[in-house]
Amino acid sequence: MPDKHIHILLVEDDAIDRMAFERFIRAGELPYDYTFADSLARAREILKTESFDVILADYQLGDGTCLDLLPERGDTPVIVVTGTGDEETAVLAMKQGASDYLIKDPQGNYLVTVPHTVTHALDRKRAEDQLHRYHAHLEQLVKERTAKLEAEIEERKVAQAEREQLIAQLETQNAELERYAYTISHDLKTPLLTISWCLGALEENLAEGDLDEVKRQASRVICSSRTMLRMLDELLELSRIGRTTHPAEYVPLQELVAGALELLSNRIAEKAVHVEVAPELPVLRGDRQGLGNVVQNLVENAVKYLGEGPDRRVEIGSRHDGDQTVCFVRDNGIGIAPRHQERIFGLFNQLDARAEGTGVGLALARRIIEVHGGRLWCESEGEGRGSTFCFTVPDQP
Ligand code: ADP
Repeated sequence: MPDKHIHILLVEDDAIDRMAFERFIRAGELPYDYTFADSLARAREILKTESFDVILADYQLGDGTCLDLLPERGDTPVIVVTGTGDEETAVLAMKQGASDYLIKDPQGNYLVTVPHTVTHALDRKRAEDQLHRYHAHLEQLVKERTAKLEAEIEERKVAQAEREQLIAQLETQNAELERYAYTISHDLKTPLLTISWCLGALEENLAEGDLDEVKRQASRVICSSRTMLRMLDELLELSRIGRTTHPAEYVPLQELVAGALELLSNRIAEKAVHVEVAPELPVLRGDRQGLGNVVQNLVENAVKYLGEGPDRRVEIGSRHDGDQTVCFVRDNGIGIAPRHQERIFGLFNQLDARAEGTGVGLALARRIIEVHGGRLWCESEGEGRGSTFCFTVPDQP
């Protein structure tokens, strides 16, 4: 028997049975305290304010059956008391949620089994409660573990994606390096060969005392070494892009354009170029110096490759293309044949070898834009039809 008193609600409409129950409890000194309800309605009322360890309820009551109580008893075990020959009803009651049953006999002998049945019902409830708690605990554990696993899987996915991106980046950089190594050895050779050839000629000219020719060869040597120096400087700059990072800032394109036009003002005036800048240009986010170099290079090229036509125009603006803003520098100059429109972005690639410059500017500009996550490309309907250089910088405010 448990030490503490067991609180029982006895729902019984037969006064004699109630008394028999009371007598039995007292005689056996059972540790029960009990409350009587003589009808379903009374039992319902009591249950509103009091809780019990167990409910002992006669099956057939004046105002219904004790099954009507089941929804209102919370998780308190209900023991159904039926008359002899009513075993089927008892089984039905258990199917509907009763904990146990007692079969009443006219002599009241069934009362002897009350203590055992009550203890059994309480033990079962305790076991069920424990099982519920255990179940809830297990569910919680499974939830936590699942969440942890999901987080781990997500982390791995992110790490894997980062790794793949890095590998792809490395592969591109490797291929680029290979291309550069080839181009550098090939293109730097030209001025070096010129220098070496001129020095040979110089020797001969000196021996012959031909000073005019000495002067000519010497100035060719100076010119070629300057070209080499410029190429090396630009290569160095190219190799720095992406390695030296300036903090990203919001840079109005309008400011970059104004800076470029200021630097080119003499040339623009000399060539009588009409420059048209759109009144509204986007604000870009990135490295001010790098983006400035891009704009500078595109505007300079636009002015440089205008050709000799009478009406020389350069237009700087932006347009919306889907959800991105495309900035552009357009000229009505010499234009670029479609087959060269990609080639000009290669290192040292010039369409006219006699043109001033080294052919690094566009490679540099494209690299800067790519480091910003954007694109730089050329649009031209062909030679003599002008060119438009377009770029995007995705991270705009
Ligand atoms: P550079 O101007 O020093 O030669 P770039 O890399 O800036 O080098 O340009 C590469 C080549 O692309 C140029 O030599 C020229 O042939 C061609 N190009 C660039 N911009 C234009 C333009 N606006 N119109 C026509 N051709 C151009």
